[in-house]
Amino acid sequence: MPFQLFWPHDDPRIGCLHGKSILKGICLKKLERHSSVRLLCVLLGLCVKFFEEFREELRMNTRIHDPGLRSASHPEVQDAFACARDVRAIDRATALLLAEQAALPDLLNAAGKVRTRGKRRVVTFSKKVFIPLTTLCRDYCSYCTFRKDPGEPGAHFMTPEEVLALAEQGRGAGCKEALFSLGDQPERLFPEAAEFLRKMGFTRTLDYVAAMSELVLEKTGLLPHANPGVMDRAALHRLRDSNASVGLMLENVSPRLMSSGLPHAKAPDKVPAVRLRTMEEAGKLSIAFTTGILIGIGETMEERIDSLLAIRMLHEKYGHIQEVIVQNFRAKPGIPMASHPDPSLEDMLRTIAIARLILGPQMNVQAPPNLSYGDFPRLLDAGINDWGGISPVTKDFINPEAAWPQIADLQAETQSRGFLLRERLALYPEFVYRAEFLSPRVREHVVKLADVDGYARSPALAAGI
Ligand code: SF4
Repeated sequence: MPFQLFWPHDDPRIGCLHGKSILKGICLKKLERHSSVRLLCVLLGLCVKFFEEFREELRMNTRIHDPGLRSASHPEVQDAFACARDVRAIDRATALLLAEQAALPDLLNAAGKVRTRGKRRVVTFSKKVFIPLTTLCRDYCSYCTFRKDPGEPGAHFMTPEEVLALAEQGRGAGCKEALFSLGDQPERLFPEAAEFLRKMGFTRTLDYVAAMSELVLEKTGLLPHANPGVMDRAALHRLRDSNASVGLMLENVSPRLMSSGLPHAKAPDKVPAVRLRTMEEAGKLSIAFTTGILIGIGETMEERIDSLLAIRMLHEKYGHIQEVIVQNFRAKPGIPMASHPDPSLEDMLRTIAIARLILGPQMNVQAPPNLSYGDFPRLLDAGINDWGGISPVTKDFINPEAAWPQIADLQAETQSRGFLLRERLALYPEFVYRAEFLSPRVREHVVKLADVDGYARSPALAAGI
């Protein structure tokens, strides 16, 4: 965060500080006039006291986004809230002002109202099985615990048999989504990866993930959602045929995070322009797309806001962003950022609320419950309407230390806050009946799983498939 001296001109404390400066001057004058040691000590004591109070006052007014001192009644903040309430989506300056100066309860209240306007009291989740197709990756993001080099424990490319066995296990547990998560283009760095793919009949991991999506869709009826990293048009085109939706986290739009010592310095696939191009190509191909930001990796609030605005701009152009995730960094042993501090819950809530105000009432905003541990129900206060994919059969391979809450717990916590939990598919309800977003092959399976509103059918109905 840029260092800021928060000192509004109409703040009555400024007068108070000026008064102390005057008194401090009087003390110094008295010191000059009186030579008595006793009086000097008294005056020195007074001066020290004044200086300490002065310093404390200065400390209280010199803050780096200290939420306790944000002025909720400041006219500019009030105007910004009025803008958030009355217009479809706020601009950059308004977002920045609210992010840095609004009191957290006011911000949450505004975001909650915008969410309710678009989503009423419905909160969704997707029952998924997580398929870690390969842990090999050519990037070295400093926060990643998923990626492996060949020969390291856990380095693996799943065979088609392994993929199918895991997908079947998920289907047996009632999952409807098969989430493919994998490293980015490992064949470009590791001969072992290229060799595995060659034996399978492919040259690129992107083609292999498309083939595995086709296999899972045809053999199990689970709806694939591939998250394979940066994709070109040809890869997206092929994935569209077998995936209900596709995902790529933007993470952050700032190229600064690729500088030496920062988390994307050794991650060529994290060039923001390349990721935005993938998202744009998906828009041109009418692919329902999941993206999001990762917070707490050294970015500023301005860079978060710019990232959200970039996502909004693409959605305004192509209408294909089905979901925006706000994910928080969690430190884990063994990664380069092991001792980097986690973003606080307040930071997370503040960012989600800003995301909701930027993205407006209709966007699906998600935050993963397992990364906030026992505090996860509070994420609802900030304006989310989705918990993401919850797996009854596999752990979160990206954050293996953080277990998902049981679906029953999720339901109980969601209901206790006055919301209705509903299961959705890998494709959000608003896209389910829009023909342009589904290939004929995927649509055939989606209609078996969706109810008339586009949510997942109840188990009793779905049992007929
Ligand atoms: S976060 Fe993704 S791209 Fe970065 S190292 Fe991990 S698997 Fe690779």
